[in-house]
Amino acid sequence: MTFIPNGEVKNRVSLLSQLIKTTRGFMPESEGLALAHGIWLTQELPPHPAVEIGSYLGLSTIYLGTVAKMLGLKLITIDHHRGSEEIQPGWEHHDPSLVDPVSGRMDTLYGLRRTITLAGLNSSVIIVASDSQTFASVFETTIGFLFIDGGHGKEQAHLDFDDWVPKLADGGILAIHDVFENLQLGGTPPYEIYLRSKEMGFRQLYEAGSLRVMQKER
Ligand code: MG
Repeated sequence: MTFIPNGEVKNRVSLLSQLIKTTRGFMPESEGLALAHGIWLTQELPPHPAVEIGSYLGLSTIYLGTVAKMLGLKLITIDHHRGSEEIQPGWEHHDPSLVDPVSGRMDTLYGLRRTITLAGLNSSVIIVASDSQTFASVFETTIGFLFIDGGHGKEQAHLDFDDWVPKLADGGILAIHDVFENLQLGGTPPYEIYLRSKEMGFRQLYEAGSLRVMQKER
């Protein structure tokens, strides 16, 4: 299905275009708008919080948080802030400026907070600095929207799916990033969890680049 961004969402996001341009991350604007539209669709549901797994420096959080603010919802963005396995030193997308000289490890928490503050989203976005499994084990609230964009390794992607998809309300929206079939390699983990959502009866609403937006059965 072709995705046409909602005009109201597009206008609000465009107010932050300068911040979006200068925030490092891995999401082109076309995908960001499609992501933002996904949370916009949850206004048909009771007002549950939304969850993002994988904050990094908050580029996707700007899109999601902007719509959460429009709808009066809270967005919980979860990241251990030590960098997922595919952005560690030696990997193509590693950014050495994000290594904390004291711990010698990546630390994206400060950068995320700066992004959220510059976006004026402090009252709508709740930053959680924890690995997603640990936080899932104590978080029992039903959610209306889930964006899975954490670690893309096999184990992590499936754990995020197992832990968080059951928390989605009926009719809730599930967005998965970096869905690439890559059949020669047997499929990438985000693609595998995308297939799992379909097997569970999720209906695909639309796609944009590597983003897939699905809806849970009502
Ligand atoms: Mg991603």
